[in-house]
Amino acid sequence: MRKPGKHTPFFELVDAQAMAGCPICRLVYKATDRYLDALLYEAVLDPDVRAKLKDSQGFCADHVEMLRNQPGRALGVALIYRDTLKQLLKSLEQARPTRPSNWAARLRGAGASDSPTVMRLSPSQGCPACAIAATTEQDYIALLLAHLDDPKLHEAYAAGEGLCLPHLLAALRQVRDEETLQRLVAPQAERYRRMLADLDEFIRKRDHRFAHEKYGDEGDVWLRVMNVIVGGAGMGLSAKSGGRRTSDIGR
Ligand SMILES: [Zn+2]
Ligand SMILES: [Zn+2]
Repeated sequence: MRKPGKHTPFFELVDAQAMAGCPICRLVYKATDRYLDALLYEAVLDPDVRAKLKDSQGFCADHVEMLRNQPGRALGVALIYRDTLKQLLKSLEQARPTRPSNWAARLRGAGASDSPTVMRLSPSQGCPACAIAATTEQDYIALLLAHLDDPKLHEAYAAGEGLCLPHLLAALRQVRDEETLQRLVAPQAERYRRMLADLDEFIRKRDHRFAHEKYGDEGDVWLRVMNVIVGGAGMGLSAKSGGRRTSDIGR
């Protein structure tokens, strides 16, 4: 297998290790954000771009949330969703009851297909931003594994917050040799050990007998541990950023 080269993405990957949260989550977020930004700009100018988005009926809940939080995107969103809504209305006006043969088959669990009305009202394509996210995730994980023997990358990876569990699993699925496995797993195991010690310390200080003791680094461990296990959703979530997502995520 040919190694992906050390171009801009490699240096982005190195830099992301030092930032809050899982570096893959962060890079996926950035790529998706760039994609949505460009798409919305094009959607204002080009009806063909909007026509393609009708099949997916816009975006999934996570990516709608990303759109909602971005100013300057309102017109693109309005145009995309006007087209989608027009199409939905047309299908709704032609709605017919589900035929008995259809629901009877459904009750039997016979794998009946939905009625024509339900099918027309359902998306025929997945969220396009999710597709971009999946490709980006795959590319960066391949890049990470291909260059974990690079001292610069490995050092940054070992010193950083490390991978969330979903991205650790995705990486482990692709590791084929013992050396890469160790480079990936050893720093992660060390992070888990430190986190466990922090959790023990945090829990000890919650005991009323020790309640007078001040919190150190373990003060936000209850937030960090959720972040490490769930990934994306809690990206950058830490008490250092007031229990909110870090504000530098999109940059
Ligand atoms: Zn992640
Ligand atoms: Zn999506």
